Amino acid sequence: MKKKFIPYGHQWIGQDDIKAVVKALKSDWLTQGPLIKAFEDAVCKYTGAKYAVAVANGTAALHVACLAAGLGRGDEGITSPITFVASANCMALCGARPVLADIDPDTLNIDPGEVEKKVTERTKVLIPVHFTGRPCDMERISLIAKKRNIKVIEDAAHALGSQYRSGGRWMKVGSCEYSDMAILSFHPVKHITTGEGGMVLTNNKEYYEQLMIYRTHGITKSQDLLRNTDEGEWYYEMQKLGLNYRITDFQCALGIEQLKKLERFVAKRRELVKLYGDLLAGSDKFTLVKEPQDTRSSYHLFVIMLKNPDIRKQVYREMRSKGIGLQVHYVPVHLHPYYTDTFGYRHGDYPNAEKYYRAALTLPLFPAMTRKDAEYVVKTLNTAVKKHE
Ligand SMILES: *Cc1c(COP(=O)(O)O)cnc(C)c1O
Repeated sequence: MKKKFIPYGHQWIGQDDIKAVVKALKSDWLTQGPLIKAFEDAVCKYTGAKYAVAVANGTAALHVACLAAGLGRGDEGITSPITFVASANCMALCGARPVLADIDPDTLNIDPGEVEKKVTERTKVLIPVHFTGRPCDMERISLIAKKRNIKVIEDAAHALGSQYRSGGRWMKVGSCEYSDMAILSFHPVKHITTGEGGMVLTNNKEYYEQLMIYRTHGITKSQDLLRNTDEGEWYYEMQKLGLNYRITDFQCALGIEQLKKLERFVAKRRELVKLYGDLLAGSDKFTLVKEPQDTRSSYHLFVIMLKNPDIRKQVYREMRSKGIGLQVHYVPVHLHPYYTDTFGYRHGDYPNAEKYYRAALTLPLFPAMTRKDAEYVVKTLNTAVKKHE
């Protein structure tokens, strides 16, 4: 019998999810209905943010957030080289230059000290990424930003459900306590899914209004925002150059049901990470990232580093042949041909990111995974490492 394939991530869809989507499909609205606002309100309630704007995907969320922050030609933004390309692409899409600041090898997150070195008078946004779910040092990042009137947009695509302690208080990622905006992704491998989907969170009403406008072609019908108020009730105005980044009502029906399960999903992810940690503790072949006392990660990903990176290709292939969907997160942004061609980045520009990348492996992690699956992953991994060393 062929063994089942264990992917690195996978959605969890229950009967209640299916029921909610079917109900939405039978309603009068497919897109732009009442469930969009209901989903936005539910995520606000969960994270503690004041406003939310649901959009077509996480990449769209990053794009409209940059537009709302006023990012444009001649500006610069700073993000991490160890992230999904969308965290940097959103700046390039606005005509700005994506600048990268190297990671801290202990946290794998952007190093605030490196950010400080990269700030110039053109820097308009900082986009810290809570890599794997581990919260960045937001207090420090917000201090750097405030000194120069730079806007902070948290890429929280990995971190819905993560928490950190600051000033004695536990806060959820997405509360925007130390940022102007935060973005989420609801891609199926993320914590909760709407198929495709994303969201921008903010505590600032002006950003909220701008985000709403950018989500739908740059158009507003809001009486408070219209420049020309002499027209009739049909009247709408296009005030900015926006896109159609709307999400559908039936996707939000799914999102609302998924959110109800988030705490259970996070608990299961943390339980599996603890098990992985215990199973790998005896081995001297890997480096694991520790969780500090003042953060609680929701673990979108579980990454390890091989002490001997030279065997990674073989280990990867061997694990795949045994039905285990290892991944590598991520190819550093600056090494992609678009970035070398367009912005002149080179090998060697971000040594910590490159060193991490050479050794990195992502092990499977998702709520439907069993303890047996995790044990099989580690057993197979140990065997593969031994074989190829
Ligand atoms: C998934 C992801 C995104 C983009 O989200 P999509 O919904 O796939 O567009 C952005 N940033 C990071 C760090 C991600 O992991």
